[in-house]
Amino acid sequence: MKDIRVLIIDDEEVIREGVQRALRGRGYNVAKAENGEKGIEMLQEDDYKIVLLDLMMPGIDGFGVLEWIKENRPAIEVVVITGFATVSKAVSAMKQGAFDFVGKPFTPDYIRIVVGRATERIQLEEEAKRLREEHSLSLTAIENEQSRLKTVFGCMVEAVVITDKQSIVVHHNPAAIKILEIQTDPFIGKLFSHSILDDSASSMVQQAMEKSVVVTRDFPPGAISRKYLRAHCAPVTAENGKVIGSVTVFEDISTHKEIDRMKSDFVAMVAHELKSPLASIEQMIYALQVGCKYEAEQACNKMHTRMTIRTKDLLQMIDNLLNLSKMESGTVEFQLEPVRGHEILDTILDIISHQTESRQIELSYEPCEEDWIFNVDYDHIRTAFMNIISNAVKYTPDGGKVTISTNVKGGFVNLVVKDSGIGISQDDLPHIFDRFFRVKGKATRHITGSGLGLSLVKEVVEAHQGYIDVQSELEKGTTFTLSFPILMNTTDSPEALDSAAVKT
Ligand code: ADP
Repeated sequence: MKDIRVLIIDDEEVIREGVQRALRGRGYNVAKAENGEKGIEMLQEDDYKIVLLDLMMPGIDGFGVLEWIKENRPAIEVVVITGFATVSKAVSAMKQGAFDFVGKPFTPDYIRIVVGRATERIQLEEEAKRLREEHSLSLTAIENEQSRLKTVFGCMVEAVVITDKQSIVVHHNPAAIKILEIQTDPFIGKLFSHSILDDSASSMVQQAMEKSVVVTRDFPPGAISRKYLRAHCAPVTAENGKVIGSVTVFEDISTHKEIDRMKSDFVAMVAHELKSPLASIEQMIYALQVGCKYEAEQACNKMHTRMTIRTKDLLQMIDNLLNLSKMESGTVEFQLEPVRGHEILDTILDIISHQTESRQIELSYEPCEEDWIFNVDYDHIRTAFMNIISNAVKYTPDGGKVTISTNVKGGFVNLVVKDSGIGISQDDLPHIFDRFFRVKGKATRHITGSGLGLSLVKEVVEAHQGYIDVQSELEKGTTFTLSFPILMNTTDSPEALDSAAVKT
């Protein structure tokens, strides 16, 4: 340990020397000042722990120095020395804050005892200060930790419910009320089973505490709330290893379950969609192999055509799937170029008219007079138009009507596809652009599809700064309107026609 610094302020040299001798070699570093002024000067310069102070000195006397010390160096312990010691002077010095007093003459032993007591007091005070600081640091650390935990607890999207050993709820986070749809007010202070009525939830908490293990359980919608929940219940143990309660975390896994279901539906649907045309192509190949020799050439040609159509349908579906996944991952690059609108529609109508003819659907095309050009990715736009028009045919019963018209208004071209088909209910209408959504019902049961066409159309239309509108009435029909900004109306600028891309 470092020597304790002691300052003796006394005008009598013999006293100064005497004190120095008494304390020498006992762990003190003693300095001397012959009057009050010098003493204060030395106190300002160095860090002393104990001051032995003569009360009666010329110039600034002991009381003056004591006052200065208490004001400027309150941690210093002052022991007053006076040759004319009267108890009253010593008492008033102590009232002013002196720690102790020594009367002259004094023995070296006595000085050592008094200074030793002052040293002990300093050390005790330093220890108390250290403990106070440590205590306040750990209090701050606990408060910070609590505030961190409180924030984590409050921000958690999962529901957390804490119980005591008797399964009484002692704490929960705000998400618990929402996710578990708790009606009980208050939730805290009541049995877990009072607010969460499912028996298997209560037994999960019991089991976790009794067996001291983490128990995980799934709760389908309706068990605890309208959501699909997964709960993990863990016992809480005290230092001695005894179980003192439980913590249960409930996560809402409805979305995962829905995605799982959609994935399974999708795999089943894709398998079905791929299998049935492939099976009929296979049959036709077989029929051609074994029977072509005997069949009339016309019948063989018919089969070839049907096979080609089936194969094209398959390719179309696979294209839709690939395009959608590319658009979702943002890897599609649209190759924009000026395209003549009528041109694109003519190629589609050419294909579609075969289908409408075979099903006695009346197909009418009412193009606007202007020949318009728009800046688009030819292949993607063609796929989008094809999806809308083939849907109109697909969802219109035999003998119905499909009308395709265009008009140019306010810098936009509108492609209007109207059918007299099965229509879409107002409940289903908001979902038809969702991926994999298909209206379920008697009217659509035998119509095949992937539920991807319209989501792809929407992505393509929006990527071309266009918009899409749909009006529908159940059993009356549906009208889709696709609008795109046009580059130019070629009635105003006929030469633009020549530079526009024409594809066949
Ligand atoms: P799908 O491959 O099933 O046709 P889409 O994404 O193209 O998928 O369409 C989604 C759903 O919207 C269809 O399953 C169908 O129920 C409905 N739908 C789309 N177009 C029409 C329409 N013209 N008439 C009636 N229902 C339609």
